[in-house]
Amino acid sequence: MRTTNLYAPTLRETPAEAEVRSHQLMLRAGLIRKAAGGLYTYLPLAWRTIKKIEQIIREEMDEAGGQEVSMPILQPAEIWQESGRWAVYGDEMFRVRDRHGRQFCLGPTHEEMVTTLVRDEVRSYKQLPLMLYQIQNKYRDEIRPRFGLMRGREFIMKDLYSFDKDEEGMNESYRKMYDAYTRIYTRMGLDFRPVEADNGAIGGGHSHEFTVLADAGESSIACCTSCDYAASDEKAELNVIKAAEEELLPLEKKATPGANTIELVAGYLKLPIEKTIKAVAFQTDADELVLAFVRGDHEVNDVKVLNLLEGAIELRMADEEAIAEAGGCAGFMSPIGIKEGTRVIVDQTVMEMYNACAGANEKDVHYVNVNPKRDFPDAAVADIRMVRAGDLCPRCGGIIKMTRGIEAGQVFTLGTKYSEALRAVFLDENGREKPMQMGCYGIGVGRTMAAAVEQNNDEHGIIWPRAIAPFEVVVVPVNAKNPEQLELAEAVYNELKKARVDVLLDDRKDRAGVKFKDADLIGYPLRITVGPKAVDENAVELKVRRTGEILTASREEAAAKAVELLGKL
Ligand code: ATP
Ligand code: MG
Repeated sequence: MRTTNLYAPTLRETPAEAEVRSHQLMLRAGLIRKAAGGLYTYLPLAWRTIKKIEQIIREEMDEAGGQEVSMPILQPAEIWQESGRWAVYGDEMFRVRDRHGRQFCLGPTHEEMVTTLVRDEVRSYKQLPLMLYQIQNKYRDEIRPRFGLMRGREFIMKDLYSFDKDEEGMNESYRKMYDAYTRIYTRMGLDFRPVEADNGAIGGGHSHEFTVLADAGESSIACCTSCDYAASDEKAELNVIKAAEEELLPLEKKATPGANTIELVAGYLKLPIEKTIKAVAFQTDADELVLAFVRGDHEVNDVKVLNLLEGAIELRMADEEAIAEAGGCAGFMSPIGIKEGTRVIVDQTVMEMYNACAGANEKDVHYVNVNPKRDFPDAAVADIRMVRAGDLCPRCGGIIKMTRGIEAGQVFTLGTKYSEALRAVFLDENGREKPMQMGCYGIGVGRTMAAAVEQNNDEHGIIWPRAIAPFEVVVVPVNAKNPEQLELAEAVYNELKKARVDVLLDDRKDRAGVKFKDADLIGYPLRITVGPKAVDENAVELKVRRTGEILTASREEAAAKAVELLGKL
């Protein structure tokens, strides 16, 4: 392709509407244009990258046993009513009516569609396992569409669904997908982690988020610095921290006027904060009060708390009346003296504390010498705290560090959630009817592209990993008005094309500076410059975008040298 034939309108200025680097660069490099909030046009360069990402995904899905299909984007309301999700999906779902008034949605995902497809034909265990996938637009009316392709309202997703006859089969499909995802992100040249994720709503199963590491990412993840354990901050498991054993002193009340925060109490009583216990009071969607207790310097992880509460869908901060009704006092809370039957959950580390300080459920009063094993006999004990940097890895005991990343893909086991609701059943070896065991596996194609840019850029622009670069090489004649230079550049260009390299010839008659700036901004992995030296001394210049390394080669060797360099990128 020649630049004179390429629609890639680059911008010199950073568009004010773009907050993160990837969004700014994708606009500036002429990759995308906004059509409306959360809706983007992919211009030719972006579309080339999208196609490359899709191709890598497709190859790995096929290799793992997936079969590509294409299901309708427009989905009838009935199947969503059958699964129960029509009522609960809420405002994120785009809903439309046809001319007869029948309701449809624009698919935000396809569990219902694929499950009803399979239930009508798959009857025997002999037809399982089955993996079906597609790559197509999804629609979600996100509250806050932002960061360009990162969180759009229309976006491209690869979604694969697995159907197995038993749990063992489902876990095997999950493992295949996990391995395929690992290969996909490795082939794309991205620094990523498979991160253990919470799948609370579905419960019980496995889930990993494939997270591309980048400071601007929305996901906070805990990574072990010694082993490959990585988990989302919500999910990260924690070991018990045992305080040094002490003789149990008798419980004692202390006046702590106005000390209604943990820092104030610790200061007032001159105790290290690790000797204090703090409370967070929640209420469930069914209005049940839940009191959670952690060590004063720790934070409560509300996802872990929610997962302990069967049937609860969400938690909010409790109101004062509910707390008072249970015998508590906001700001001065402990499990001691709380009304029987109130749900009290104490973090496992709290149970290992000695002679600690906690509220006395009276305004301006705390207890000291609280010994949870003695004083909280009825509490439920669990790991309910939030991970933080410096915690110990639950797998190997190494040190945890916190990093940020972008969730580019997610794999889930679903069990029989959808097959039961939608009656996708089959007959097993003994002729018994069973629901299929399912899994679902998504990759955000556009978000992956944005994540790649977020991770790979510098002050001059994007630095594409070779596998997903819109073009691998740009050949730049310094002065395209000079017929000798242009001819030499064309020769290199043609040789590279013959070698099946994805190459662009910047044949614009613009100043060299403009073309170099664009090359850096768009971020082709390799630039080949053909200038006066090529004409006079047979010296062509090759520049590696990522390292800035410059090599020279003769015109005859240039293509081979480029192929060699690309092999290392
Ligand atoms: P998030 O938590 O970021 O909203 P999600 O968990 O709802 O995402 P999934 O339903 O797991 O997303 O969708 C699979 C993949 O689709 C995600 O891993 C992500 O890469 C992509 N994706 C989800 N929502 C969007 C969006 N609004 N814009 C672009 N890509 C998205
Ligand atoms: Mg997700």
